[in-house]
Amino acid sequence: MKKITTRNQNYSQWYLDIIEVAELAENSVTKGSMVIKPYGYSIWESFQKVLDKMIKDTGHKNAYFPLFIPKSLLTKESKHVQGFAKECAVVTHHRLKDSPDGIIVDPESKLSEELIVRPTSETIMYDTFSKWIHSWRDLPLLINQWANVVRWEMRTRPFLRTTEFLWQEGHTAHISEEEAEAEARKMLGVYMDFVENYLAIPVIPGLKTESEKFAGALRTYSIESMMQDGKALQTGTSHNLGQNFAKAFEVKFADKDGKEKYVWQTSWGVSTRMVGALIMSHSDDDGLIVPPRIAALKIVIVPIYKTEAEKTEVLAAAKVIQEKLKILDENILLDDRDYETPGSKFNEWEKKGVPLRIEFGPKDLEKNSATLVRRDTKEKISVALDELLEKVRILLEQMQKDIFEKAKKFREENSYQIDDWSEFKKHFQEKEISGFVYSHWCGNDACEREINEELQATIRCIPLEQKEENGKCIKCSKESKKRVIFAKAY
Ligand SMILES: [Zn+2]
Repeated sequence: MKKITTRNQNYSQWYLDIIEVAELAENSVTKGSMVIKPYGYSIWESFQKVLDKMIKDTGHKNAYFPLFIPKSLLTKESKHVQGFAKECAVVTHHRLKDSPDGIIVDPESKLSEELIVRPTSETIMYDTFSKWIHSWRDLPLLINQWANVVRWEMRTRPFLRTTEFLWQEGHTAHISEEEAEAEARKMLGVYMDFVENYLAIPVIPGLKTESEKFAGALRTYSIESMMQDGKALQTGTSHNLGQNFAKAFEVKFADKDGKEKYVWQTSWGVSTRMVGALIMSHSDDDGLIVPPRIAALKIVIVPIYKTEAEKTEVLAAAKVIQEKLKILDENILLDDRDYETPGSKFNEWEKKGVPLRIEFGPKDLEKNSATLVRRDTKEKISVALDELLEKVRILLEQMQKDIFEKAKKFREENSYQIDDWSEFKKHFQEKEISGFVYSHWCGNDACEREINEELQATIRCIPLEQKEENGKCIKCSKESKKRVIFAKAY
């Protein structure tokens, strides 16, 4: 059986080990692309189910746009193309053929115009929007797409950075700047709600700096989370695109005053990266930990028996328990595999992070009780069968809260305010877990760049919720009104 590297020994290896033992994903023959295994995919589906509802509840509709984007379209917005030029997969031919050396690309099938595999869909969508939108009556246009995208990566890590990944991308068009800004902020709020209340990961909403914003956007907002090694991970982004794309793609509408105007746009997205955030926020040295509200499998019942007579009795009673708990969740597993011992089953479900395990054997049957085992704390609780449903319901809610609070406490314990450059430098050079450092910054990208080059710390965001105060830039000592978060990041 594979032994998990501990977080203290080697955090990066621990992350890869968790992915392996929990059977979330594996490397594929396609370099830089992963295979998401059934258990890992069930977690992504669980994310999708909740988030898709939230996106629809806020008025958006799902649609699907082509994977291939004509090069001329992708290059229409100049900042956008610069932002993605270095990581594009390009389709140049459309046919293979036999040759004496085996199958080759048919040189005669060269495309007259190359196609780009979408790195994101602003361009192809907005070209379409320009045909859909005619008057103010067509606005707002609120579209979401669940899709795969490709960004060519040289150094990859499962879920965090792969050449192909899965995501949702929302794209909207509005009548005014205020409406677009409100939409960008609203969707940041939806992501915040989802990540904090379902994934139990505390986040800080903020504004990205000019150098870190999305290519082609007016403003980019993000939510930032701290992983257990103190590094930051951006779990979602929302962009106010202004009229940059509207002008490049001629997305215009006739306003109520009869005048033709450009629309105001937003885009926003979260990806399978969130699975990486989930792993790194909560899991321990024994395996994955999934918060109950988002777990695809919340409860597993493991029957314990030795003789055939015990087996018959225990399984019959376990099935009754399973039926009873279905009020809480449809998907409750009774692990009645005969070829595995209870011990190896405990081990497997612990590695996979199933929130609650119910152990049930002849002794429990005799006492009319069952043993509940929490995955997060490993606490064992004996519960009378007639109280089981209520106890399980309460316990799942408690676990959800406890997992969030634990992550929040970790973040607070590893957050600092630093106002002195030498202290700041020493912090990032020497501290094992450097965490989030709140410091003043003048707004100049030279200071930002120099800090990044010297200390590998970047400005994660300018937190939205903060009081203005008089301070001095940590690097150049110029006047500053706001603190930003510096951190090492994924
Ligand atoms: Zn400065």
